[in-house]
Amino acid sequence: MTEHVLIAENLTQEYVLKGGLFGKDRIVRALPGASFTLDAGKTLAVVGESGCGKSTLARCITMIEEPVAGSFVLDGRPASPDTRAELRTTVQIVFQDPYGSLNPRQRCGQILEEPLKINHPGMPAAERTRRAREMLELVGLRPEHFDRYPHMFSGGQRQRIAVGRALMLEPKVLVLDEPVSALDLSIQSQILNLLVDLQERLGLAYLFISHDLSVVKHVADDVIVMYLGRPVEIGSKAAVFSHQRHPYTKALLSATPMADPTLRKERIRLTGELPSPVNIPPGCPFSPRCWKATEKCRAERPELDDSAHRVACHFPE
Ligand code: ADP
Ligand code: MG
Repeated sequence: MTEHVLIAENLTQEYVLKGGLFGKDRIVRALPGASFTLDAGKTLAVVGESGCGKSTLARCITMIEEPVAGSFVLDGRPASPDTRAELRTTVQIVFQDPYGSLNPRQRCGQILEEPLKINHPGMPAAERTRRAREMLELVGLRPEHFDRYPHMFSGGQRQRIAVGRALMLEPKVLVLDEPVSALDLSIQSQILNLLVDLQERLGLAYLFISHDLSVVKHVADDVIVMYLGRPVEIGSKAAVFSHQRHPYTKALLSATPMADPTLRKERIRLTGELPSPVNIPPGCPFSPRCWKATEKCRAERPELDDSAHRVACHFPE
């Protein structure tokens, strides 16, 4: 039996946009309801265009923000303000920008030790340092890097430090929010290989967020395709890449350059912009851009079906 280390149910987040002098406040429905599960030791990729709510999901799952509705269970424990402190060690996050996420005034070693200082205040300094040095090696950095400042590292090395810091508390779930998007292509694969290697060694589960399907193809076990804050297709990587059921996934994949020629498809051009999450269209949120949309699609929002390769579409492929 597979163990779900993360179960999210109807996770919902909204932001209030303050109106101007005479304007009314408006609600941004960044995440109107996401349900999914992540299995121990596996990688669940979350893909979708910029603005579809991926980072919002990441902030909710890592308890940086509290969702306005819905719930999630981490490693068997329901997340709530009461369990937040203990669950902080169960789930950790790595951000896209390895420049912005590291304190420029801290040395690499201090950055790695910081989570232990905060969460295990009783741990002797020598033990902290020992663990930080061990982590340095685990993420592929050298002992002499311990005393260097972030600006002395390359982008890829900084992302190694960020991954190391996230692992110091031995989490079970790592949320990776566009972890390689800011890196050169050649460096991207090094970091992806590191992540794959760490996952195998440590049995980590990844919630791997990316707008880039060619990256996802490298690392995912399962894939969630998000549109305007809602999963529209969920399936195994093989299923989603070989047979897209949702028109949006088809369009997204057709626009992604793939090295694998068997995956090359005729390019589908999506017309129109991603609608604003302030004004989510009624019916299927994708209907204004969908070439298959009918009256039913414009009126009635499809729910995810119950198959192994799930889709929320009235006319799936
Ligand atoms: P993604 O990571 O997929 O690009 P985000 O989760 O960052 O998307 O954003 C989803 C939507 O929520 C966007 O429309 C964004 O403008 C909006 N949003 C995100 N954070 C805030 C916030 N703090 N206040 C208002 N709107 C926000
Ligand atoms: Mg984002």
